[in-house]
Amino acid sequence: MKFALGIDIGGTKTAIGLISDTGQVQAKLSLPTDQAVSPEVMVDRIAEAVFGMLGEQNVKETELLGIGVGAPGPLNTKEGKIAEPPNLPSWWDFPVVSSLERHFTVPIKLENDATAAALAEKWLGAAQDAEHFVFITISTGIGAGIYSHGRLITGATGNAGDVGHFVVDPSAEGTCVCGQQGCWEYVASGTAIARQASALLGREVSSKQAFDLAAAGDAPMNELVQRAFKNIGIGCVTLINTLDPEKLIIGGGVSQVGAPLFDAVRNYVSQYALNPSGRKTPIVPAALQQDAGLIGAAALIHINY
Ligand SMILES: [Zn+2]
Repeated sequence: MKFALGIDIGGTKTAIGLISDTGQVQAKLSLPTDQAVSPEVMVDRIAEAVFGMLGEQNVKETELLGIGVGAPGPLNTKEGKIAEPPNLPSWWDFPVVSSLERHFTVPIKLENDATAAALAEKWLGAAQDAEHFVFITISTGIGAGIYSHGRLITGATGNAGDVGHFVVDPSAEGTCVCGQQGCWEYVASGTAIARQASALLGREVSSKQAFDLAAAGDAPMNELVQRAFKNIGIGCVTLINTLDPEKLIIGGGVSQVGAPLFDAVRNYVSQYALNPSGRKTPIVPAALQQDAGLIGAAALIHINY
């Protein structure tokens, strides 16, 4: 069996896994992403954890096919750098690939985390049969991985798929982290739903609590949630009209609400996608919820893309 190492760097934790060429998670662990220390020191901690894991599994570094790294965007995969991710402020402009190369000699690949998760869905998940699909992750923000004509679409610097910053409602109050008004993620992410629900109730609630209240028959909350789902549908129509995918796959924390979301989005798409086949685009949940980031990072090594 051949192994790749996956490293999924997030704003609060970094997951590390040893993944076989059949997609089996042989070993995994996670470390807090400590932004109080320099990213160089974090990379040293990651390397130490990797060597500990390889030792326990009796795998030599030189036996690895490579190391795949998934990280939040914006980044610059051409230069192997983290660029300006809002949730990793201490890592801005950090050359993560060359920093890892201080410890490892095997090939290292870096991609946006949503792009990597899309590749995982192609490899082992809900897109195995698709040559054209978009994977959308809706959680604190919204991101996407685009797969078209049998290839991952990464763009010139690895930032293709930053769909969270399509403007869907320029009249929306408030300003997105990017400076625009009414970005898709500003009006439809889990953070957006929690912010709107908290304003409605005058107390802090999570998106999950908002969904629970809506499901229990709270009419104003249900209206708020349906508006967010409509906004998700608007973005999905834009993606269908732009890319003509065979299917859309939705993952991330917000997708866990299940049928209310998927029914609302399918209904919106069935009315408003421009072309008749687009209106019938299957919209399905991601298959790889747990470990999607890790498997996606390892897929960068195991799969041609
Ligand atoms: Zn924005």
